[in-house]
Amino acid sequence: MKAVRLVKVGSPLAMQEIPAPEIGEKDVLVHVQAAGICHSDAHYRAGRSPVRPLPMTLGHEVAGVVERIGGGVRNLKPGDRVCLHYNITCGECGFCSTGNEQFCPRVLMLGHFTNGGYAEYISVPARNVLPLPPEIPFAQGATLMCASATAFHSLRKSRLRAGETAAIIGVGGLGISAVQLARAFGAIDVFAVDIREESLALAAAYGALPVHARKADPVAEIRRLTGGRGVDVAIEMLGSPLTMQQAVRSLAPMGRAVFVGISDEPVTFDTYREVVGNEAEIIGCSDHLLSELPTVIEMARQGVLDTARVVTRSIPLDAGAVNRALDELERGGAGIRTVIVP
Ligand SMILES: [Zn+2]
Ligand SMILES: [Zn+2]
Repeated sequence: MKAVRLVKVGSPLAMQEIPAPEIGEKDVLVHVQAAGICHSDAHYRAGRSPVRPLPMTLGHEVAGVVERIGGGVRNLKPGDRVCLHYNITCGECGFCSTGNEQFCPRVLMLGHFTNGGYAEYISVPARNVLPLPPEIPFAQGATLMCASATAFHSLRKSRLRAGETAAIIGVGGLGISAVQLARAFGAIDVFAVDIREESLALAAAYGALPVHARKADPVAEIRRLTGGRGVDVAIEMLGSPLTMQQAVRSLAPMGRAVFVGISDEPVTFDTYREVVGNEAEIIGCSDHLLSELPTVIEMARQGVLDTARVVTRSIPLDAGAVNRALDELERGGAGIRTVIVP
């Protein structure tokens, strides 16, 4: 089969002809129908996040059709439409058995530590396979498995309750899902903070109140729009020390700031005025859980979570086209989501 693979860090991905994967007793062979190209894949290609072993088929946002099942698989059959949870975990350790499998020491992420979906076929354990309802196109099913799922996890971590207010800082792929999910969780007002006009317009179309962070200080603007109180929940999606600071400074008393964006730089706060005296909480959010995905899929099926306007382009399974999409992500073209349709 054809696969687009990372052969050498820092070099373009290459098309390779490799054997279709074998499946074990409890595995499923999936014929890939859509594989999302994610900003993480640009980090992997550039070597900012290590991938092993090489060569590796990238792609962790995958939807397709079941081709074949192992002898021990009972809940799936050939022809089923499915999407895949990208973290393959041991299922037996303390973290796995308590539903916190993102901390499994043996976790193998698709397209990172085991072959992913930039290929015609992929083999995964049956418990990583979720039914994809016919109402959800494959391309949207694929992107639900990364951005939308992590946005859902961030809102659960925030403990947002009906009647509270929220600010989503950075309304790209994750943020657009977070805006809709915050409304679904019952937020009265959702502020969308960004500097991109089209992202703000899209967030507003989903019911958010746009805050343009270049036209005014977003913290002052959120305070003004909330009568000086601030928001109960602020979710930071960008991973910059400035926006992490803004998330904490936007909080009302007893507010919760959730950090989803990744940065390795330190952040400073006024620990008394902004954290201790305010009883603010700063919460980390990493990935998402298998147990959350059926809800995310059902919300998408019912249209509570609409990702139709997030998937903006399809490309074929071709190394040149995939590399060009990754180049665009490197140049900051975050508004465009590309999906490989083999
Ligand atoms: Zn992703
Ligand atoms: Zn485990």
